[in-house]
Amino acid sequence: MSGSLAVVGLGPGDPDWITPETTAILAAAEEVLGYGPYLARLGPPREGQRRHASDNREEIARARHALDLAATGRRVAVVSGGDPGVFAMASAVFEAMEDGDPAWRALDVTVHPGVTAVLAAAARVGAPLGHDFCVVSLSENLKPWDLVLRRLDAAVAGDFVLALYNVASRARPWQLGAAFDRLRQSGRTGGTPVVLAAAVGRADERIVRATLADVDPAMADMRTLVLVGSSRTRCLARPDGRPPFVYTPRRVDPE
Ligand code: SAH
Repeated sequence: MSGSLAVVGLGPGDPDWITPETTAILAAAEEVLGYGPYLARLGPPREGQRRHASDNREEIARARHALDLAATGRRVAVVSGGDPGVFAMASAVFEAMEDGDPAWRALDVTVHPGVTAVLAAAARVGAPLGHDFCVVSLSENLKPWDLVLRRLDAAVAGDFVLALYNVASRARPWQLGAAFDRLRQSGRTGGTPVVLAAAVGRADERIVRATLADVDPAMADMRTLVLVGSSRTRCLARPDGRPPFVYTPRRVDPE
């Protein structure tokens, strides 16, 4: 089969954060599939390129469609926000491949890295990821809430900095508050720095610095990434009313 399928990510929002590799793949693609708002970020298609917009919740159908098009010999690209491998389309493509036509496994399928939201959010406030960290999605659409709680407990026990994706949506308004409660109950202290980074890299970007004691979960929405510090994460005050730098030192000395 001569078709190909490239899975790419557009970064969190700022066009300067799209890699040159991804730009070249999108320019060469004959078929581009993705969630409508992501395709809108690409500007008009070049001549001969077809765009296929679909809804956010239709990842598997989109992945199957993309594999089908590649199997007919087309040069196909599937776009995600951020990095395509982080809570995004790359896994959906392999899920579809595993359950689908065995011939799809012979296709030239490639995954290309992008800037994931946690990296952009961290860069905005300083260096909160300078030591060990972990990443958890709060969406319990694809896993039981009980598993989320176990992972939050483990992050506290291991003293990881924690990055939370999919923290809220209209259908899921309570999860972030419950997660903060759990982190406090598991022993993360009230003074721990917390960052709510919304729409990073877009015109309506908003960064809120708080602590675990005073953070208001209602300030987060579906475009917010939340960072919760470890016991070592600290704020460096700055003069003239400028916001502090939030950072985690690289070193933990033996007790
Ligand atoms: N593949 C994406 C993540 C998809 S999950 C990536 O690598 O970034 C969707 C979640 O990502 C959102 O609910 C939010 O938590 C986070 N996110 C995506 N874009 C963001 C942005 N510009 N600013 C802050 N968080 C963002």
